[in-house]
Parts: sequence; C-alpha cells; structure tokens
Amino acid sequence: TPPSDAIILFDGKNLDKWESEKGGPAKWDVKNNAMTVVKGAGVIKTKQQFEDFQLHIEWRTPAEVKGESQGRGNSGIFMQEFYELQVLDNYNNRTYSNGQAGSFYKQKIPLVNACKKPGEWQTYDVIWTAPRFNDDGSLKSPARATVLQNGVLVENNVELEGQTQYIGKPFYKKHGAKSIALQDHGNPVSFRNIWIREL
Ligand code: MG
Repeated sequence: TPPSDAIILFDGKNLDKWESEKGGPAKWDVKNNAMTVVKGAGVIKTKQQFEDFQLHIEWRTPAEVKGESQGRGNSGIFMQEFYELQVLDNYNNRTYSNGQAGSFYKQKIPLVNACKKPGEWQTYDVIWTAPRFNDDGSLKSPARATVLQNGVLVENNVELEGQTQYIGKPFYKKHGAKSIALQDHGNPVSFRNIWIREL
C-alpha cells in the first residue's frame, strides 16, 4: 500500500499519468491491475517530472520463458529518462554482469541476484539523488542511487558515471527535473503499483 504522502503514478486502472515518449497517449495494455509493454508502442514516461525521490515499482516478466540473455523479459526503468535500472528475467538466465536485473545498465553490477521466478511479481524500491550541474553545464555532483529488489539490497548508494549508453562510455549532460520512463524492449513485461515520494 502506498504511504499517505506518495504520488500514485499507476494504480492499475489507467495510464492517465503517462504519455508516449514520441508524444501522445501511452499505448500500453492495461488489465488486471497491471500495465504491459505492447511491442512497438515505444517508451512511456510520466507526465510529471522529478528530481530527488523514493520510487516503488512492481514488475513481472512473462511466465512463458522465451529467448535468452538480454532477450528474455527485458524492460527497464529510467530514472529521469536517462539512467536505466535494468529489468530482466535473470532467473537461471546468464547474461553479462553489468546487464543483469538490478544493474544500472552497463555501469553498476548488482550486489546479488535477487530474482524471483518468471511470472512472479517482483519489487524495486529506489532512492534517487539527481545529478546537479553548474551554470556552464559541467557536473557539480553525480547521480546517486540505492536499490532494493524484493527487499534485498542490490545497489548501495552507488555513484553513476553518466547517462546510460548501450555502447561506449557514459557521460553527463546538463538537465533538470525529468520523467520516470519505462522501456519497450519488445518483451511483454508488466508493471503495477507504481508510486513515488519527492524528497
Ligand atoms: Mg532494459
């Protein structure tokens, strides 16, 4: 149950708080109190923007296992649109260490594999401190994150090196408050009970 001061981002009923990254309404599937990626519908993001926050989100990879490594139950939660906390079915599914569920993709390996079986609901609780920038655009202080997966600490106050890059070195680029975004990686991953507390 969300705490009394939380902003409810998704209560299972509709995607009113979300929009497509491409513009226009978020076109993911909503039923049974969950939203599910529709392949090709693209990234969706919150209409509201945030800086420092505590985020709770629940996710589920498909019960029917298909694909392997990064091709199995892949999605992601982008803190401030640029920093991906990986969502992946990593239950008996080897992949590169910094691409696992609970990783900040290609930057921070999780402390442990805390994954439940495919088809089971899992939780992330994230404490996020936004990066700060100087007037000239240079970095004043990097983003910091603590993450619990299913109540297990997987990222302990880690310092990010910059925006998530799929290939190449991460880097920072000045920004202010930004959205929470969810990745369409082509796999039907579901989300529910999403709330946030601004810090
Ligand atoms: Mg991903």
